[in-house]
Amino acid sequence: MASLQRSRVLRCCSCRLFQAHQVKKSVKWTCKACGEKQSFLQSSPDTELLLPSFLFLQEVKWMEQNLERLMVKALVLIVDAMSKS
Ligand SMILES: [Zn+2]
Repeated sequence: MASLQRSRVLRCCSCRLFQAHQVKKSVKWTCKACGEKQSFLQSSPDTELLLPSFLFLQEVKWMEQNLERLMVKALVLIVDAMSKS
């Protein structure tokens, strides 16, 4: 789990394109589309609005992973119950 890379969804203040960037110590980032160099603070307020939806996506992914684990557990119980009857 520690190897998971964190990224932020950012919106370019020049071309308005949304893109994911890995979290770095640097406060500057470069747009992948137009090459505009900008600071995290400079990007539009829309960026802040998009962040919760990105976190939600992360949460859904977490739920999917855990649901899979629960389903496997349920299957094991079913097979176990069937073998006993
Ligand atoms: Zn751009």
